[in-house]
Amino acid sequence: MAALWADVLRDEAAVAEAAAVAVDAALLQGVLMRTEGEPNASHVVNYAPFTLLPSAVPSALFEQAYAVQQDFNLLVDAISQNKEFLEQTLASTIKVDDFTAQLFRIHMQVLEEGLAQSVFLGINRSDYMFDCGVDGTPALKQIEINTIAASFGGLTSRTAAVHGLVLKVLGKSKEASRLLPNNPSKGLALGIEKAWKLYGSQNAVVMFLVEEVQRNIFDQRCVENELWNRNIRVIRKRFRDVFEKGSLDDAKRLYIDGQEVAVVYYREGYMPSNYNEQNWEARLLLERSRAVKCPDIATQLAGTKKVQQELSRPGTLERLLPGRPEAVARIRATFAGLYSLDMGKEGDKIAAAAIADPDRFVLKPQREGGGNNLYGEELREVLEKIRDSPERTSYILMDKIKPQPAMNYLLRAHSPLQVTKCISELGIFGVYVRQGKEMVMNKAAGHLLRTKAIEHADGGVAAGVAVLDTPYVV
Ligand code: ADP
Ligand code: MG
Repeated sequence: MAALWADVLRDEAAVAEAAAVAVDAALLQGVLMRTEGEPNASHVVNYAPFTLLPSAVPSALFEQAYAVQQDFNLLVDAISQNKEFLEQTLASTIKVDDFTAQLFRIHMQVLEEGLAQSVFLGINRSDYMFDCGVDGTPALKQIEINTIAASFGGLTSRTAAVHGLVLKVLGKSKEASRLLPNNPSKGLALGIEKAWKLYGSQNAVVMFLVEEVQRNIFDQRCVENELWNRNIRVIRKRFRDVFEKGSLDDAKRLYIDGQEVAVVYYREGYMPSNYNEQNWEARLLLERSRAVKCPDIATQLAGTKKVQQELSRPGTLERLLPGRPEAVARIRATFAGLYSLDMGKEGDKIAAAAIADPDRFVLKPQREGGGNNLYGEELREVLEKIRDSPERTSYILMDKIKPQPAMNYLLRAHSPLQVTKCISELGIFGVYVRQGKEMVMNKAAGHLLRTKAIEHADGGVAAGVAVLDTPYVV
């Protein structure tokens, strides 16, 4: 696997020429991001960072990741409807983690009041790395599943065209023709369209709930434009706008600026810094409404790392997906070792093991968005400090996945062109729609490959660490 493109990687002149073509192709294709300096204006934009060359992905693992996606959709949806499971699983976490506790409070409040929402839309992305076994065979291991604001489905719909051109420039037309088509933005839009139709009000809009700082707007625009092409009206609002102008009528229909909202698609709201008191109030208003929330708050909670860890306990998947042993087996095959740090013997034992051998593990708090996990010496230091305190229950431990690195060039504005040792993370987008108790759509909607230099333990594309890539299935 590591030897893919070896001839090209040695040829500096060819690489420089291809890189220039690649960057312009990315701009032409719309693989774009706003700049750090002007994150809320489009006068100046740049290309989103990406690899010069597509990265090898073993075909069996690629197929396995697609094959398990509908199972994960069912699982996330089942968890979101299981009040007792969420309550029990998050009990220890919400005692020490204020952010999860606040989400959980809204979840409970909405349930007590009675759900006004009857159509449910899930858009998630299950992320994997290829763990290299002792004999060198790679295995598909899930890193996490993102159940809110899973991004880059838009931009990644355009990277295969860029990489196809690069391969042609490098004299590899045959390889270029093997790159797979991929269009998550369309798949996501089809899910939103379905939910919008089932909501059943011709004049109602789809509201993208967006951040204050909108560098990644083009990724969202890809999905927006797919909806406009289907004659569905899209508006972009922030929590602040909802707080100021949002309201519910007697039937809990959601209105903003006099417009009825059928679907709320969150691209915001997954980390503590997204909220102040007003934003929490806006979130509560949205959750109480009958609008289709993508995701509703229960589904957001289903994506917490604590839930992920509890799923790996023997018997849990069987309880959540009764009568589906094949789905359970497919899901379980992707699990890495996950460990609870709840107070008690089990937690004491694994904490001691991680302190003794920190390089075997990753320590994860209940956070999303990259850059929050702890590794190596830092993991040891933090865990030593909190090992006897309930604070440790705000984290989980996970076995560290060790993929086989490969060489590539990471193209990033204002960065020198240099060959870099990299690892990749494959994400599969899942989309599903449920009406009442009935699943009416359940699909895998495309993929995302992100690649980063091995010296970065953590961090995604938005965090400035990983770059967009295209799988070259081998
Ligand atoms: P976040 O919600 O912040 O994205 P993740 O669980 O996806 O949290 O972790 C962030 C990054 O850390 C991943 O993209 C991956 O690069 C790295 N990472 C996470 N878990 C592991 C693991 N078990 N082994 C190796 N790397 C990991
Ligand atoms: Mg992640």
